[in-house]
Formats: sequence, structure tokens, C-alpha cells
Amino acid sequence: THVVCEPCFNCKYTDCVVVCPVECFYEGDKILYIHPEECIDCEACVPECPVEAIFHEDNVPEEWNGFVELNAEMAPQC
Ligand code: SF4
Repeated sequence: THVVCEPCFNCKYTDCVVVCPVECFYEGDKILYIHPEECIDCEACVPECPVEAIFHEDNVPEEWNGFVELNAEMAPQC
């Protein structure tokens, strides 16, 4: 799955949402989240993100590791 990380705060530009073929983005209060069971790892969203907030779960920068869990917890609730 792909994961939305810290740069998304105060962005929520939603260019990523538009290109996602499975509509697995969910809008939270502060940032967007990707549903881990719905994302098919197509990578279409990655170049669309203007703040480079989206990473494959295996490539999330260490300081943002917590976002893997956060996306998994929050997306189903949105
Ligand atoms: Fe959607 Fe593809 Fe991005 Fe996953 S990698 S969130 S399926 S656009």
C-alpha cells in the first residue's frame, strides 16, 4: 500500500485523489489518508502530489514511519 505522510498537513490539494483508479483516498480533518486494503499500488498518485507526501509503505522516510499506522487507522473511519 501507499501512505500519505506529514507534508500533506495543510495541503489536501487532492490532485492525488483525482487520479486514483480505486478511489482509496479519504479526507481527514488535517490530511488525506490512503486505505491500505484498497490501494493497489499503481503509483499514479505519487507524481501528482505537489508536496511529495506519498510513499510506498516500504519507502516511508524513517521519521514518518508512524504514518503507516495512522493511514491504516484513520482511512476506514473517514
Ligand atoms: Fe490510489 Fe494508486 Fe495511489 Fe494507491 S498508489 S492511492 S491505488 S493512486
